[in-house]
Amino acid sequence: MATSDAQPTALTGIGVSPGLVAGPVARMAPGIPEPAIETLPADTDLDAECDRIAAAAQTVKKGLELSAAEAKGDGRTLLETTAQMAADPTLTTSAQAKVRERRLVPARAVWEAAGTLADMLKSLGGYMAERTRDVADVRDRIIAVLTDSPMPGIPRLPEPFVLVAKDLAPADTALLNPEKVVAFITSEGGPTSHTAILARALGMPAIVGTGEQVTDRLSDGDIVLVDGTKGSITLNPSEEALRRARELASRVRVFNGDGATRDGHEVQLLANVGDAAGARSAAEAGAMGVGLFRTEFCFLDQPEEPTIEAQVEAYRGVLEAFPGKKVVVRTLDAGADKPLPFLTDSTEANPALGVRAYRTARRDPEVLEHQLQALAKAEAVTSAKVWVMAPMISTADEAKAFTDQARAHGLKIAGMMIEVPSAALMADKMFEHADFASIGTNDLTQYVMAADRLLSSLAYLSTGWQPAVLRLIKAACDGAAPHGRPVGVCGEAAADPALAVVLVGLGVASLSMTARALPDVDAVLKSVDLADCRRLAQIAIDSRTAEDARAAVRAELPVLEELGL
Ligand code: PEP
Ligand code: MG
Repeated sequence: MATSDAQPTALTGIGVSPGLVAGPVARMAPGIPEPAIETLPADTDLDAECDRIAAAAQTVKKGLELSAAEAKGDGRTLLETTAQMAADPTLTTSAQAKVRERRLVPARAVWEAAGTLADMLKSLGGYMAERTRDVADVRDRIIAVLTDSPMPGIPRLPEPFVLVAKDLAPADTALLNPEKVVAFITSEGGPTSHTAILARALGMPAIVGTGEQVTDRLSDGDIVLVDGTKGSITLNPSEEALRRARELASRVRVFNGDGATRDGHEVQLLANVGDAAGARSAAEAGAMGVGLFRTEFCFLDQPEEPTIEAQVEAYRGVLEAFPGKKVVVRTLDAGADKPLPFLTDSTEANPALGVRAYRTARRDPEVLEHQLQALAKAEAVTSAKVWVMAPMISTADEAKAFTDQARAHGLKIAGMMIEVPSAALMADKMFEHADFASIGTNDLTQYVMAADRLLSSLAYLSTGWQPAVLRLIKAACDGAAPHGRPVGVCGEAAADPALAVVLVGLGVASLSMTARALPDVDAVLKSVDLADCRRLAQIAIDSRTAEDARAAVRAELPVLEELGL
């Protein structure tokens, strides 16, 4: 990689996915603006203009097919569907009619034709309504060809690059190919948004919320060093910094399924999964089980409640990846940033504080009933040990109602998530009913700091290092101890190797994370004794601020520097 003579420049953002990599910048082209209503001059060859539209649609179709052939999984399906849309004559014929009948310039004709098509699909509802996103994508691509503008979406380049964008839509994130995109930097976005979670799942270093003043300084081809742990970007890094990044990238750590501190205190290191494929790769990565199966991820795009049979299939796929092992299944966590069309009321003013997660069972009790039935059936045909829990339990009555209901379905181990501060503070009462709890630090932080987890402007509040969050985690563990119940953590805090040490010191028995984080967390835990964990936990909860807690604990863990964490 060639470096320029320019001096290194340090820039910062919020590091949301760890790792140190370097590469040339490739900026994501901005969206296509609406073309003005313009008509063609009287002497224009209208047939030739119509041919240009057809040719542009063909170019887009071929480009998408090529990208689809290179992509994997969800990304491939998404690209294939969009390519089909580009090949569909409805859009081109309708745009050509507007050129012939109203003498509209081709770009404007395509824009209007796409608008009519999208309205028609929207009125059909369900699956068809979801295709409006593909129409907009194809429209923008055809217009880009017609107007000779940069193609929107993730750039296609022969060499690996660092993607720089304003923000990434979930669909963009599904298309990120880790072999091509080595890291990404966005000017918007928060630390616990699902884009950030996906970056960690892909093992792709990522920095979000830099503000435009940072991304505006990065031009195509600039060499940058991205440190996703620290949230730092170095423009024009030194040769020495690049050498260290290469050396760290060449070291591969593995996890052997034996999570414990140096002095042998067992800490179960588990995986967060969303489907069977994720569960299989987590098992390959050595995960000791599943600590969070986000069941709603199986059904995010479904307009109707899935049938019991479809649910049994989805759950069985995950359970089968972990024969004889623990799989913690969370019931549907619908609402706020993960709406499910069949459960969520989209008209609420404050969805994060609304009828979401377990609360939906009051309005639609049959959906939870069906899910528990399906889960019991899936458990019966596999050997995995199912632990079931509900998200957003807020009162002891809810803990009792849910665990009673789960046990009535034959699910023997029933517990709850602790994501609402009341649940942590009332833990002693909660554990009169719950067999276990798993702390969702993403939501717990959001609710105790009153800071929307998706907002980059509030990222300084949205961190599990907040002493207030840590004190609540301690309260949860202290409430569980007299009952002898295990408490785990399955929020993003569990994947931060330094914070993991603190959590173990607070009394947490298991840590569940994206499978990619297992080797790092394991390596750091194996460098400390339980007594060290307890001492560092005390330092963290006695700290004045999140930054103080993080700095004080990291200073006591020299292994982090050695491992490049
Ligand atoms: C959490 O809130 O920490 C959690 C694990 O659940 P989710 O991120 O799916 O809301
Ligand atoms: Mg949550």
